[in-house]
Amino acid sequence: MVVCVKQVPDTTEVRIDPRTNTLVRAGVPAVINPYDAHAVEAAVQLKEKYGGRVTALSMGPPQAEEVLRRALAMGADEGILLTDRAFAGSDTLATSYILAQAIKKIDKMLPVNLVLCGKQAIDGDTAQVGPGIATRLGFTQLTYCMAIDAIDLEQGYIQVQRKLEGKREIVRGRLPALLTVVKEINELRYASLPALVRAARVDIITWGKDDLELDPAQIGLKGSPTSVWRIFAPPARPGGEIIPGKPQEAAAALVEKLVKTKVVADR
Ligand SMILES: Cc1cc2nc3c(=O)[nH]c(=O)nc-3n(C[C@H](O)[C@H](O)[C@H](O)COP(=O)(O)OP(=O)(O)OC[C@H]3O[C@@H](n4cnc5c(N)ncnc54)[C@H](O)[C@@H]3O)c2cc1C
Repeated sequence: MVVCVKQVPDTTEVRIDPRTNTLVRAGVPAVINPYDAHAVEAAVQLKEKYGGRVTALSMGPPQAEEVLRRALAMGADEGILLTDRAFAGSDTLATSYILAQAIKKIDKMLPVNLVLCGKQAIDGDTAQVGPGIATRLGFTQLTYCMAIDAIDLEQGYIQVQRKLEGKREIVRGRLPALLTVVKEINELRYASLPALVRAARVDIITWGKDDLELDPAQIGLKGSPTSVWRIFAPPARPGGEIIPGKPQEAAAALVEKLVKTKVVADR
């Protein structure tokens, strides 16, 4: 199994500077993308049930090594960091290409049956990288997984529950498969002390562009069909309004306002 983990700024701590209208990222801690933590936990639970090996894989700057150590503390067996200046500026197409090429290399050493990703990253927020990897590898694609019911290694299938709007969908697909997971899939456990010690000591494997079979035209800024040309903070919301009067009158005035502003439909 391979779990893709991304290091992201803790967006609950990111503030907007009201004067410059830019994000204040200084001093904001970098964390493992929350959905990816659930993907690691899901992989470790599968390992406990079915055996196998869990490889955590991340692309990012050298400090992204921290999220791989976090995955090791949660029970992953090894961590591989894809880091190279040539990878910088990659959009989702280039990111999924580089990750897929790394998974192909891992697969040559030990066959990969399952790739787990988070549903989305809380900084980029696109939810495109997982499906991108699945397409490139030709794996069955199962997104928004909230439960893994069963895996039959002999018959070569997996059954999952997908979280859809207002319902869940039970799907069976052939292995190898790529799953993206939502938070409902499990509860995170605390890392054990021996696991923490091992995670701090173990060597992280580092691969650069020359360690992978890559088409230089498909990576980094050059390999990215999209580019972000402007980033700005959303405008501040106008202040609220308190409607005075007795409760009944105020309620009537409120309804009138809501209808007028088309927040609710008129009867
Ligand atoms: C503010 C901001 C500005 C950016 N500016 C640019 C720019 O100018 N040009 C540009 O080309 N790119 C830019 N990027 C980067 C790029 O768009 C995305 O970060 C990248 O393509 C991944 O997409 P995502 O974050 O939406 O991941 P998602 O598709 O939402 O992630 C889904 C899952 O895929 C896996 N995953 C995603 N990324 C990685 C990773 N690196 N390593 C391991 N697993 C991963 C994780 O399991 C994750 O849960 C910018 C990103 C941000 C946040």
